[in-house]
Amino acid sequence: MATQEKPRTTYQETYNTEGPREIWCGLDHSSIEEAIAHAELNLGMRGREAKAYWGTMRFTDYVVGWQLNDRKRYRLDYAHAFSEENEKAAKWAGTKRLKGSQGVHVNEENFDDPKDKGVSKVCHPTEASLQRADTYWSKWTRQYRQR
Ligand SMILES: [Zn+2]
Repeated sequence: MATQEKPRTTYQETYNTEGPREIWCGLDHSSIEEAIAHAELNLGMRGREAKAYWGTMRFTDYVVGWQLNDRKRYRLDYAHAFSEENEKAAKWAGTKRLKGSQGVHVNEENFDDPKDKGVSKVCHPTEASLQRADTYWSKWTRQYRQR
């Protein structure tokens, strides 16, 4: 193959780097329920009607989270390389478990955050297992399909 990769620009470098763009919510949530409640509180989503947020997990489309609109949403996520990612994040995030003790975490995205224009993503780590996260994706997807 003769294709040569172009050197990355500073912009791409910054854009693709998981760094201070993502911050820790400040708590270690024992359960997924707790992490979702915290994200919903931050986003002002509690008790409000939300639309399904679709994503792909292991090559299958699932409802992975919920969105108030396309600027405020959260998703339940799993980091395969969580120990490596946690180790990297420890240097800047203020926690050694940013992605959860078993890789399960909730990502909160708020593109209208008035507090900080530079940060749009908040990570809520949990102690839950992938199996537990799986029951959520399946349940949410079933719920949505029944409507
Ligand atoms: Zn949290």
